[in-house]
Amino acid sequence: MVWNEVDSAQVRREPICVIGAGPAGLITAQVLLRNGFENVHMLCKDSSVGGVWAKGRIYPTMRINKCIAYHRKLLVHELTPHGSVHGESRSSALPMARPIDASSTGGRLRGSDISNYMDEFHNRFFVKEGKSIVRFNTEVTRIQRGPGSKGWSLTIKDTRNPEKTDILRFPRIVLCTGGCSVPKFAKGLDPDDARAAGYTGPVVHSAEAWPRQAELLAAARKSTESNEGPSGAGGGKSAQDCSALLAAQNVPVTVIYNKLELFLASPSPAPKFLRQGRLLSVLSPYVNLRTRMQRFLHSTWLGGKIVRIAFNHITAETYSTYSIPKNSPLRHARSLLWDIRTGDEGGRSDESFAAKVMSGKITAIAPTHVAQFTNTGVLLDDNGQRIDASAVVSATGYVNSWEGILDDETCLDIGLTHQVDPKDLKKYANYWNYPSLQNPPKPEYEVPTGPFVAPGLYQGMVPAKGIGRRDIAVNGATFNASSGYTYEVNAHWIPAYFLGEKMKLPKTPEDATEAVTKHLAWVMRRYPTCAVWNNPSYAAYIPYLSSPIAMDELMEDMYLPSMRSGGNWLTWLLKPISSDELVTLSEERRKKRGETFGGLS
Ligand SMILES: Cc1cc2nc3c(=O)[nH]c(=O)nc-3n(C[C@H](O)[C@H](O)[C@H](O)COP(=O)(O)OP(=O)(O)OC[C@H]3O[C@@H](n4cnc5c(N)ncnc54)[C@H](O)[C@@H]3O)c2cc1C
Repeated sequence: MVWNEVDSAQVRREPICVIGAGPAGLITAQVLLRNGFENVHMLCKDSSVGGVWAKGRIYPTMRINKCIAYHRKLLVHELTPHGSVHGESRSSALPMARPIDASSTGGRLRGSDISNYMDEFHNRFFVKEGKSIVRFNTEVTRIQRGPGSKGWSLTIKDTRNPEKTDILRFPRIVLCTGGCSVPKFAKGLDPDDARAAGYTGPVVHSAEAWPRQAELLAAARKSTESNEGPSGAGGGKSAQDCSALLAAQNVPVTVIYNKLELFLASPSPAPKFLRQGRLLSVLSPYVNLRTRMQRFLHSTWLGGKIVRIAFNHITAETYSTYSIPKNSPLRHARSLLWDIRTGDEGGRSDESFAAKVMSGKITAIAPTHVAQFTNTGVLLDDNGQRIDASAVVSATGYVNSWEGILDDETCLDIGLTHQVDPKDLKKYANYWNYPSLQNPPKPEYEVPTGPFVAPGLYQGMVPAKGIGRRDIAVNGATFNASSGYTYEVNAHWIPAYFLGEKMKLPKTPEDATEAVTKHLAWVMRRYPTCAVWNNPSYAAYIPYLSSPIAMDELMEDMYLPSMRSGGNWLTWLLKPISSDELVTLSEERRKKRGETFGGLS
């Protein structure tokens, strides 16, 4: 038998563990509870909920968007987040109050807005009689299959008392550890390398730039007094915000990067129907051309032209918003069409990274890389230029959060990853010959010529090779542009799958694996400049700008109505998409229960 039989009443009774209490973990657990799961556990290595948005990790100028940067005398490298606007970062279960100062933030939510929301969400749904179901300060250090290959054994440790370890067993688990939990330093640029080079200033990863800001500022002030020059910090989106914050405190910051994450901006925030409608998702080439409009845009010469003009126009508007000259380092940016590293800056702001670069408060050096530390700062690799810095902030992103929990072999064994032979991708060579995808840029990573490891998750959620087992799922590994909506739809798909509800699912693990391979072939075609699929805990599935369409597909997997934002043939593209559309999903699914489940028995 390929598929496990499902006794849904028993599944609901049995314990289930959600690992991680970031946005994806919280909504997953809330939907499980709402779906009648009686024994939901949550483990979280932090001391509060929110993940990236947890108290202590957010900094005052953190905004929902994305960007990339490096700084003078506080140097940083890149990272990868995505743009969101008001309403997109929440679940349908709890409205998010509009921040009173929303207009002063250019329409963007602050990190603190999201953080407060996560706290409220936690208090509302997970705290009973003063006790939270979340076990905080509890890090999962190892995941293994349980005895007899049934269920899961989790080794945990108390982060406040690392000697204290334990093993917990669960029949089912949902991994929600995200992709931004374990900081990554570039090779040769970690604090030990700095010490080895005789560099004595602080060397901080962007994840710690805020908690350690006092140290950074003290270093900057000290170097100013001794005329060694001040320091700054930054990297990725956090680097951008962080550098702007330091620059606002008169700390000169230098940002060094190869390519900047494009920060989309306009003189004033674009109207809701443009930012939250389906227009961009349809303009962006997508693996399946589902609507007449998509077919026109991507399979006709004229449509392809329109797509290019639209993407170029959006990019040009960003540059004109900040009057960025052609030779500015700010122009060394990722492509909005070919890359996923872009962010939504919203309306123009004098406090933004771009504004501060344009006013000279932040110095941007690009395109280049930091080669190594010197005893006074860093050395650039193209011209050997030395940059003196009183502190260095590295925003070189994060490693796959599964690395600390699952070794490569276990990932392959479970099917979180799988081995791909480049020959398996070749069969898709003549797929997606869209005019809108003509003349792609050259890949900016080494294209594998032999077998390589890639994400193995079907729909970014369940191991293709073990799809019939229904005992593990992942939420948070879909790289998207509307996180609240995406995590919530995933949070429904997962229990529907566990409970054996009627769903459109591949009939065999081989079919599921083929679907996963096809997705990788698509992603490599669609985003040639970016190998973000290297981090499967974060980007196992990459619909990105087209995530509303991908979520429609998941809805259809569950035999639920899709394209929920509605509208008629003329207005459907502009109808804002909102998490409110999802508020009845549990009820809709409940009505369907009792029907025979999908998949092969
Ligand atoms: C600076 C920055 C800015 C960003 N900006 C945006 C943005 O503007 N818009 C956007 O959509 N996205 C943005 N992102 C991406 C961000 O990853 C998502 O917003 C979101 O936080 C992902 O949610 P998650 O729940 O999947 O993961 P996370 O938020 O990373 O949460 C992971 C959870 O897992 C827990 N955990 C991890 N490992 C373990 C373990 N071994 N044991 C126990 N618990 C563990 C953590 O404690 C945490 O609770 C940004 C990321 C960063 C770093």
